Amino acid sequence: MSESDTTDAGDGTQLRTPIVAVLGHVDHGKTSLLDEVRGSAVTAGEAGAITQHIGATAVPLSTISDIAGSLVNPDDFDLPGLLFIDTPGHHSFSTLRSRGGALADIAILVVDVNDGFQPQTHEALDILKRTQTPFIVAANKIDTIPGWNPNPDTPVQATLERQSDRAESRLNEKLYELIGELSEEGFSADMYWRVQNFRENIGVVPVSAETGEGIPDLLTVLMGLSQRYLKSEMSIDTEGPGIGTVLEVKEERGFGATIDTVLYDGTLRGDDTIVVGGKNEPIITDVRALLQPRPLAEIRTEKQFEQVDIVRAAAGVKIAAPDLDDAMAGAPVRVVRDRNLEEVVAEVRAELADIEVVTEEQGVVVKADTLGSLEAIAAALGEAEIPIVRAEVGDVAPRDVAVASTADEPKHAAILAFNVDVLDDAAREIEQGNVNLFADDVIYQLIEEYEEHVAAIEDAQQ
Ligand code: GDP
Repeated sequence: MSESDTTDAGDGTQLRTPIVAVLGHVDHGKTSLLDEVRGSAVTAGEAGAITQHIGATAVPLSTISDIAGSLVNPDDFDLPGLLFIDTPGHHSFSTLRSRGGALADIAILVVDVNDGFQPQTHEALDILKRTQTPFIVAANKIDTIPGWNPNPDTPVQATLERQSDRAESRLNEKLYELIGELSEEGFSADMYWRVQNFRENIGVVPVSAETGEGIPDLLTVLMGLSQRYLKSEMSIDTEGPGIGTVLEVKEERGFGATIDTVLYDGTLRGDDTIVVGGKNEPIITDVRALLQPRPLAEIRTEKQFEQVDIVRAAAGVKIAAPDLDDAMAGAPVRVVRDRNLEEVVAEVRAELADIEVVTEEQGVVVKADTLGSLEAIAAALGEAEIPIVRAEVGDVAPRDVAVASTADEPKHAAILAFNVDVLDDAAREIEQGNVNLFADDVIYQLIEEYEEHVAAIEDAQQ
């Protein structure tokens, strides 16, 4: 890893990059926005460009100031830049936790300016509230405003002033609708250039992921917000034993099960012993290799990854080690090094206990791909007053069908599966038995489908 991942805080500690996540309703432009941020960074080019991590992209301050031009004076900042988590969506956001909070330090809530607030926008806001994560709103797709006259080379505020009356009033109308929606959700929001305190008020940045308008403004606001309000939280002991969160468990040829991890504190070394949250027990294992993506040019000819000796927070890294098959996405990873092993295991256990879901004697079975999503579904089911009898990370297995089939009430003979597969044996048993399976990768849709099913049962009983 490059040394530019941290900067000196002046008091012996180091400052790490704030971790940024992108949330919002499907199709509102989360992926495009991330692509555009990466794209403008690569085009801006010279300064530091970007570093591709596993699961994340680091944009150094020098590149941000290149993109933002006169908006950012690098001398005003001592944070090293921003680390964007590559997988957008509140599903991955809530998965990525650190010590009880969200792993991301800041979020960008993307809202299609024409489409306004949608169910997943509300869900995302609930999660941001629950985790108390500071965020800004990217009012996306301004280029689709009728009569819009794009100008990617100036700050978006200036572009706004140069629009026809029709385009300007149409956009303003949409932006004020957004601000109104935010206010109904309990957030005081305003156009970003009128916001003084980004922790108390939500800044709305008009952007287009298509034309790149507003991207410099967006990066400027993120950087300013981090520098002003998050700096103290970014201070870490870079030489201390690393702490991170599992993003994904992945089979990798030649390595077996590996974990894609975001390290948010300390260092991780190629010869460290680590403790990882597992499906049954914390997993204690020795790192076999730390892997990073190779620079793009080399990927075609060489192996996809290169081995590194050390990784410093904040960074995304793939960890290869024995016994990782039962590791859980969303679970903690902690380096042991010179610490007491039992103590580290107890910490991992405590963090996992934090995310356990309350179950009842009767209710539905819930399966999800990660702890965070399990927790999010449990919260949504709780709100809908739907009890849960069993909640677990992993694919739908025969055991789940067995539990669901013993339900006292027909409506509880159900499995709600979020973003997971159904094992063949389980599928066969579902087909032959009385258990109903609901599978979706959007929480509110999953719950809606189940509620419709319950309504149908109740209708039939009357
Ligand atoms: P996601 O589901 O939130 O990740 O949304 P995507 O990034 O996949 O975008 C959904 C669709 O909207 C795609 O067809 C994009 O090309 C389009 N899109 C995204 N941002 C913009 C924008 O700023 N302007 C226009 N015109 N289209 C956009």
